[in-house]
Amino acid sequence: MGTIQIRTAIPGPKSKALMERRNAAVARGPFHATPVFAARAEGASIEDVDGNRFIDFAGGIGCLNVGHKSPRVMNALRAQLDQFLHVCFSVTPYESYIAVAEKLNALTPGKFPKKTVIVNSGAEAVENAIKIARAYTKRPAVICFEDAFHGRTFMAMSLTSKPHPYKAGFEPMASDVYRIPYAYQYRSPAGTTAEEFAHHLEDAFKRHVAAENVAAVIAEPVLGEGGFVVPPRDYFAALHKISRKHGILFIADEVQSGIARTGKWFASEHFGVEPDLLVSAKSLGGGMPIAAVTGRAEVMDAPGVGGLGGTFGGHPLSCAAALAAIETIEKDGLLARSTEIGKRFEARARDWHKKWELIGEVRGLGGMCAIELVRDARTKEPADTETKELGKYCYEHGLITITAGTYGNVMRILVPLVVTDEQFEEGMDVLESGLATVAEKKQLAQATI
Ligand code: PLP
Repeated sequence: MGTIQIRTAIPGPKSKALMERRNAAVARGPFHATPVFAARAEGASIEDVDGNRFIDFAGGIGCLNVGHKSPRVMNALRAQLDQFLHVCFSVTPYESYIAVAEKLNALTPGKFPKKTVIVNSGAEAVENAIKIARAYTKRPAVICFEDAFHGRTFMAMSLTSKPHPYKAGFEPMASDVYRIPYAYQYRSPAGTTAEEFAHHLEDAFKRHVAAENVAAVIAEPVLGEGGFVVPPRDYFAALHKISRKHGILFIADEVQSGIARTGKWFASEHFGVEPDLLVSAKSLGGGMPIAAVTGRAEVMDAPGVGGLGGTFGGHPLSCAAALAAIETIEKDGLLARSTEIGKRFEARARDWHKKWELIGEVRGLGGMCAIELVRDARTKEPADTETKELGKYCYEHGLITITAGTYGNVMRILVPLVVTDEQFEEGMDVLESGLATVAEKKQLAQATI
């Protein structure tokens, strides 16, 4: 591993000036993982307004699986720009919306007839999935999970687990939402089985809500914002079985785990489940805003005409970009690439795990991989400030990262899958030297106590 040099003071003067303007003009609500402002991006790299170059391990929070300015996406956008921008699918429909629906119907798990509705964002798609489930089952309640993140709109926020910063002060939440523990093995008693984790669902019918009042169970197949937690392989099959027994729909929120992130089109495939409804977004658009709900045709058709949709849902530019992103994943072998990235990450991170107590767990599914940082391997006290310091070290040394986890102590990898081996290893070098710096500092602090 080469010595990592700090290249220049980061943030540079132009980013600093923009941050001042941002603070004066923009609400403080939207957070920033880095204090640098983007000027251009390509593949897996970003250049900021001061000319600093970064390797991008965040991909705009998992939206760039096909990379920045993916050539097919750019060509499709240019072609669409010459045709028309907005006519509204609810006024004058167009083919690309149908083509995206057909693709998603074919790519999502399950051989049954499917239909799709397209919207603008992950949260909006989650809202719609719940509406559809309620319309079909004619039941009000929804069961969700601890450590879940489903977005910031009202139902999505109500389904989300973490009060700060997502919910506190925005009450009241939507009603008829019940929460059970997720299969977070690292933070559960050792040896807890998939069936034991899934039993929380049966238990909820005794303790919280009658099964016959529940429309849907909504789960992320791999927790995204919750810290890239990968449940045991039989977990979702067990949950799905219980749900089916009670006539409850199973919704997979694959906003972050879908579209090749885990080495398959959708993470649900790893678990052998065929969700009744599946929510996709983020990397579906190759960098453009688009999201969808795909599911059993009879369920999707439960809401009446006019009950779903929106002015911009399935915008022509977003549909063109989505079709090009899907083609890129298919033609450029990005499913296999995601698996390979996961293996490369794991090989190096396992060495780190042996070396530093700071690393509590290395985990992941394909290219959706992470390390959970703890202060003490035995107590598993979350190392949140250390994780923050690691993120800062990274951007100061040319690597853009993003953290996760209910306790803010997970460093996750959402690198564009088009990253070159050299870029990936360089990024991992930065992470490694950052970990060494943070771990050393921690040891020094302990020695002086
Ligand atoms: N669901 C999951 C699993 C997510 O990770 C996110 C965003 O990170 C959302 C929903 C919300 O998506 P959006 O930010 O596009 O509204």
